[in-house]
Amino acid sequence: MRSVCVYLSSSNGRPADVAAITELSREIVRRGLTLVYGGAHRGLMGVLADAALAAGGKVLGVIPQALVDFEVAHTGLTEQHIVETMHQRKAMMFTLADAFVVAPGGYGTLEEAFEMLTGLQLSYHAKPIVFLDVEGFWSGMGAFLDHAVEAQVLRPEMRVLFRTASTAAAALDLLAGLPRAS
Ligand code: AMP
Repeated sequence: MRSVCVYLSSSNGRPADVAAITELSREIVRRGLTLVYGGAHRGLMGVLADAALAAGGKVLGVIPQALVDFEVAHTGLTEQHIVETMHQRKAMMFTLADAFVVAPGGYGTLEEAFEMLTGLQLSYHAKPIVFLDVEGFWSGMGAFLDHAVEAQVLRPEMRVLFRTASTAAAALDLLAGLPRAS
């Protein structure tokens, strides 16, 4: 694993999210990994990029032209790729990354994360993904997916593709296939 893509909100989140995302960036840099993300300077996305850059890390952004102003494209990244469409953004982020961390986010984050999960489910790719469970943010999603299994619309062997970790180090260990710290 050489690069990690982080999906997360372009809104401000909670103080705990800011702390967790700052730690995630530092841990990514500490491990010598390249950070890939959506290229914005707004909200938690900006926190992520700024923390990685401050730690001396390599940060690649991918942002559609239409969002350059709306999401305030980051101007200090190692590389900023400006693409035409959302589809191109997602495809490029996928290509640049070896694994994915999903931090707290809304519709955009969910859309990106679930596209990766469905890709795994259908064996379109084998890149691992983990949800960073800051203060139990994803517990409701886990309960919903259990409900989907009970309703027999999600196969149990696919339910396990949704994995969470409560710290940055545990999330990156999981992506690297290392044993979970107790
Ligand atoms: P949100 O979680 O809604 O704050 O969105 C987080 C990021 O996902 C933002 O950079 C959005 O622009 C991005 N996003 C929203 N919808 C999509 C989509 N359909 N494809 C790719 N990225 C998206």
